[in-house]
Formats: sequence, structure tokens, C-alpha cells
Amino acid sequence: QAEKQTLGFQTEVKQLLHLMVHALYSNREIFLRELISNASDACDKLRFEAIKKPELFEDQSDLRVRLYLNEEQGEIIIEDNGIGMNREDVIAHLGTIARSGTADFLKNLTGDQKKDSSLIGQFGVGFYSAFIVADEVQVETRKAGEAADQGVRWISQGEGEFSVEPITKAERGTRILLKLKEDAKEFAGSWRVRNIIQKYSDHIGLPIQIEKTVEVEGEEEQASATEWETINKANALWTRAKSEIKDEEYKEFYKHVAHDFQDPLHWSHNKVEGKQEYTSLLYIPQRAPFDLYHREAPRGLKLYVQRVFILDNAEQFLPLYLRFIKGVIDSSDLPLNVSREILQQNPMIDSMKSALTKRVLSMLEQLAKDADQYAIFWKEFGQALKEGPAEDFANRERIAGLLRFSSTQETAQTVSLADYLARMPEGQQKIYYLIGDSLSQVKSSPHLEVFRKKGIEVLLLTDRIDEWLMSHLNEFDGKSFVDIARGDLDLGELDSAEEKQAQEKATEEKKDLLERVQKALGERISEVKISTRLTSSPAVLVMGAGDLGVQMRKILEAAGQ
Ligand code: ADP
Ligand code: MG
Repeated sequence: QAEKQTLGFQTEVKQLLHLMVHALYSNREIFLRELISNASDACDKLRFEAIKKPELFEDQSDLRVRLYLNEEQGEIIIEDNGIGMNREDVIAHLGTIARSGTADFLKNLTGDQKKDSSLIGQFGVGFYSAFIVADEVQVETRKAGEAADQGVRWISQGEGEFSVEPITKAERGTRILLKLKEDAKEFAGSWRVRNIIQKYSDHIGLPIQIEKTVEVEGEEEQASATEWETINKANALWTRAKSEIKDEEYKEFYKHVAHDFQDPLHWSHNKVEGKQEYTSLLYIPQRAPFDLYHREAPRGLKLYVQRVFILDNAEQFLPLYLRFIKGVIDSSDLPLNVSREILQQNPMIDSMKSALTKRVLSMLEQLAKDADQYAIFWKEFGQALKEGPAEDFANRERIAGLLRFSSTQETAQTVSLADYLARMPEGQQKIYYLIGDSLSQVKSSPHLEVFRKKGIEVLLLTDRIDEWLMSHLNEFDGKSFVDIARGDLDLGELDSAEEKQAQEKATEEKKDLLERVQKALGERISEVKISTRLTSSPAVLVMGAGDLGVQMRKILEAAGQ
């Protein structure tokens, strides 16, 4: 088969490499976390494939990651006996960036290192982070189940190109050699490496081992033998007792499962026992991914069955409006050979989905107790949550409680419905809102005049999705919602008897005027009425109670209807 071949990196990879080396300079040690994370993923994949094909284990079923350190030479090797890669895999995975939307992401870069390094965080750095510390990376790998001579060697200096050539590799799996930069040789030091692993990779569920050479007393002469010392806990984090897990460990585990670079905002770890048994560890990220609104973007949880990794992005366990949640679910009841198809139509999954949804809602309720934290969440994911009432009818009131609005009292989207109810004056029975394109526009709307006069708060809704949202919310805490730009405005007890009388009287007296206006405007309107709505404007346009709102009309027009 082909000899050594030199290939160019995909353009995006070049950009990413350049950015990473400069932007992440102050946090170089994370390269080890990324490479160990990949080794662990590779072992997970093998374990999964071997459910159907046990022969993939060859003669080695103990999966592990091994590190070889040579501080003098400035070299570190990270070796796993996981799934490995063949030539095609290597070219596809180590030469391009698979994730869709990466080009978009790179377009958002500013050149400002601080900002860019937080952007890179939304993206996850991965394999290429090796070049933060190495001026050359060599990967030797052989895929499980393929012949020993089907191995591949990949070499790159992290500039424009890489080479691939066939090799013979007896053991399956991947071995990555980093030739450390002159100023990065510390990363081959045993003490340093142990520290980094404890900090970032303790949660990894398989042994991470360092070689230790021990003197063996022989009969005649001294011999030396290699022993392996496991330096992490080597238990999958979610299987451990909550009380034993430090916050730092939860955070690092999040970065591993979510391929994120930043800490999560919040998490919840639960063991469910009884009719169904499973453990869930769910996280709310701190930042929305750039593809949160791409329909085809990957979403969902990492699924394990009895600790065996089964699927990434299992979407069936949470509704779409909670697609930002990351984490793992480990079931004791599902069969090991479960597939996406089986997940799609399984009553057990439905009941897990409903329980997990409630779990997330209570997590959010918990988070909402801290207004500052919740504001971060709301800014990133509020729009997704607003899809909730339409998608999840059963929980719509609970979701409503988690929504935050702008109002005539607070410009920022911080007003909860509970806040609103607490501020209602005596006699107010309804929750009033007004929808428009922008805050400045709705704030100057004549519809608000009477509410200002009477000191009644009105929610101001200016997001694209708001009309859709409000068409699925009927009431909250027994109070119904009223769009103040629609239909007859009945303020109930908030209108005094005199005001009502005055309106009736004026309608009688101004009958001629009303008829003349009606005639002049003809078909363009359906009715002209005397109203108590206004205090200073002479007239206002009102939509009929059943008409499509302005936002919905625009959405439909844009869709060509
Ligand atoms: P991610 O881990 O988010 O997919 P990475 O940049 O870390 O992105 O890795 C890219 C891909 O390279 C992985 O998805 C995997 O297919 C492949 N890969 C990396 N390291 C290994 C490894 N040790 N064994 C097998 N495949 C690997
Ligand atoms: Mg990775």
C-alpha cells in the first residue's frame, strides 16, 4: 500500500492551531487533559464495539492509558489500548475539524487574545492542543480488529501539513509522542504530570498509569523490571458517592463529557432506585454553543448501560427546549445492545425522559435562587427555554415560573411572574403584557397610557419567539394573561364605576363621530370604539382578540405564506 504521503491541513485547522498556540499559552497543561480524554473515549468506543464482537479485545481486555516520560529528552508518550484508527480515520480526524459550524466559529474571532481564548472555550480544543507544548507530534495507531501491518504513523510540526505512512504495530490502539518545546520540558516531569492528572483527569473511569522502574534483586546480577503505577482513582465519577466527590472533580468531568473548556454553571447528580434504576449527572453549561439554534447540531446526553459507554448525543432523554443540558445517564435496565432505534420507541425511555425533565426544571429552580447566576443562564439559554411551554404542555406552568421578562418597571429581563404577582395592586386579576419589536418601541406605545396612570406593571416582550410563547401560556398561578394591544381591554375591578359610565356615555354621545371614522377607514379596520385606554394620545390601533400578531405575521411572511 501507499508509502509516506504528505497532506495539508484543512484551512480551519491551520487557523485553529495558530490561535490555540497563542491564545492558550497561559494554560498549557490542558493538552494532557485533552489527550487523556481522547484515550478514554477511544477505550469507551472499543468496549462498546466489543459487545457485539468480543474478538476485538484480541488478548487484552484490560483497558488503560499509559504515560512514558523522558524529561531529559523532553518527550512524553500517551498510549491507549482503545479502538485505534486506520489510515482513513487518521486523515479524517487528525487533519480536519469534523464539527459543523467551525468556519462560523472562526469568523467570530476578534484577534483580541483574551476574547478569543474564551471563544475557543465554547468550542473545545481537543487533539490539536498537543501543539501548545510540542513542536512535533507523532501518532502511531492501529485499529482494533485489523492486521498488525495496517498501522499508521502520523507526524506533524503543527504548521501547514502532516505526513502519514504505513507501519506495523502489534498492539491495537494509539500511541502519541510529543517532542516538547524547549520551554515546555517540565511537562515530561513525573511530579508535574501526576499533579496535572490529579487536577484534570482523576474522574476518568479507567486506569491512567505511569511507568516506574524498580530494582529487582536477582540471584546473580541486578535486573530491572517495569511496573505500572495507577495514579488516578479509575472509577467513573458518577458511580462514586456524592459526598466523596469534590466540586473540582465535577467541573473537570463536565469538561470531559461536554468537550467544553469552561466550568459549568450548575449540576445535579442523582441515583434513582426502584422500578427503574439509573444514575444521572446533568450539567448546565455557562455558555451557549454557537450552534444552539442549528437544527442538526448534536445534542443530548452520553448514555452508558451498566458503566459501558453506549452512545454519545442520546437525544431521547430530554425535550428539545432543554437541549443545552450536558451530562451522562447510566442505566441498569436497558439492554447492552440498545440502539438509537430502540431508544426511539421504548416506554422505559419515556418515563426516564419525564423524570429527567423534572430534574432539570428543579435544577433551574435551584439556580434561580441566585439572581446573578440565573442571569447568566437566562442570557445564554432563555430563548431556548421559551420554546418550552409549546413543546411540553404538562410542565408549562413550571416553565413559566422560570421565565424572566422586561417590564414597565425593569428594563433588564429579570422579572419573574412571581415578582409580578407580588407587585400587583389590590383588585388586579390578570397579568398584562405587550409584544413589540424593540423595547424603545413598546415603551412609547399608547397602549401603556392607562397602565401608567393606574400604576399597573406591564410585561414588555420583544423577542422573536414571544408571541409563540404567549400563545401557549394561558395562566400562571390562576391569573390569566392579557395582551393589552388586543380586543376590548377589560381592567375589571381596576376600572372604577365612574370610568365605565363615562365610557358608555361617551359612546352614546359620539356615535356620529364613530360612524364617520368607520366609514372613512372602511375595510382597513373592523371596528371603531371609545376606550379608556388612552390618556394623552387621541387614538390607537388595536388587534382583534383572535388576530395573528405582528411577530407571527412577519414570521409567516418570511416563510413565504
Ligand atoms: P473530540 O475528542 O472532541 O472528538 P479531538 O480533537 O480531541 O476532538 O479528537 C478528534 C478525533 O480524533 C476524535 O473524535 C477521534 O475520532 C480521533 N482520536 C483522537 N485521539 C484518539 C485516540 N487516542 N484513539 C482513537 N481516536 C482518536
Ligand atoms: Mg477530544
